Amino acid sequence: MLADGTPITPSYLLSPDSIPATNGLRRGYSLADFQFIRTLGTGTFGRVYLVRYRDTDQFYAMKMLKKVEVVRLKQVEHINSEKSILAEIDFPFIVNLLCTFQDDRNVYMLLEYVVGGELFSHLRRAGRFSNDMTRFYAAEIVLAIEYLHERDIIYRDLKPENLLLDHFGHIKITDFGFAKKVDDRTWTLCGTPEYLAPEIIQSKGHGKPVDWWALGILIFEMLAGYPPFFDDNPFGIYEKILAGKLVFPAHFDVNAKDLIKRLLTADRTKRLGNLKSGSEDIKKHRWFRGVDWNGLLMKGVGAPIVPIVAYAGDARNFEMYPELVDEERGLTGDPFKHFFTDF
Ligand code: AMP
Repeated sequence: MLADGTPITPSYLLSPDSIPATNGLRRGYSLADFQFIRTLGTGTFGRVYLVRYRDTDQFYAMKMLKKVEVVRLKQVEHINSEKSILAEIDFPFIVNLLCTFQDDRNVYMLLEYVVGGELFSHLRRAGRFSNDMTRFYAAEIVLAIEYLHERDIIYRDLKPENLLLDHFGHIKITDFGFAKKVDDRTWTLCGTPEYLAPEIIQSKGHGKPVDWWALGILIFEMLAGYPPFFDDNPFGIYEKILAGKLVFPAHFDVNAKDLIKRLLTADRTKRLGNLKSGSEDIKKHRWFRGVDWNGLLMKGVGAPIVPIVAYAGDARNFEMYPELVDEERGLTGDPFKHFFTDF
């Protein structure tokens, strides 16, 4: 694809989409329906572009994933699950998926364009956030995670890069590439304790509490400007996480420290969010005292940062990325079609 937005692979629409058309969009799209403006962000096997829908002049974010990379990196299941989860959910603080389609090379997810940029960029610019600012973002995220968990969806990738700010500065969680729907029935069906394999008992990475742990890391990072466990290499980070030693900067609010400690509890049976009252325990924690949870849900609480946006397709809040020239121009045939029948 060229930087000026000219699509250079022929696009074939393989399946009409099951998502109802919204915002003036009809069903069934191909790449030629969109003008590519610029890259908004990159992932491991794809990019997210700002695009203009030619018919209506509306702007969207187009997540484009290279099939060959998705298959090579064994991410087919994740991508299909990302689509089905996003198609199922509808929440004010989660990015809205409008439709999906594919051609020989790529699969595409058309998302609402969230204009305010990554919370990550705003945090790095500010250095760190105040207690009140942090509480605002944390509270919107708590509501989103609560919504997902009620639907047995684990998000598994909470971090400032995946949190965008909308036009008014409210949170929009994006990137459901690691989100997983846990089938409760599977757990109950194989629920005779004597016969459970150790990896089922010990599968620490796959439960809802991982999201509450990540919330603890996130609150710490927003308040401090850096995460609680860091090192030059991943192994060092893992060591520090397992050692579990938290060093709080002196300026931390005492209630924030208490909440973070309760979220960053290594034993997940004792972790806040995973106790008898679930997410209610988090919402009732002293640090959140005074939060108007219902008002927040209606986006009725003013956000601490209102992004500067001059026009609908303004991308000033996103980092610049070198644009790609598609090296696969002219190739035809799609060996991976059968992997993406839902798109
Ligand atoms: P992802 O591959 O989903 O992690 O997206 C990579 C990056 O693209 C994100 O970190 C954002 O900077 C950007 N991005 C993703 N979705 C959107 C969206 N709906 N609106 C604006 N930017 C987005």
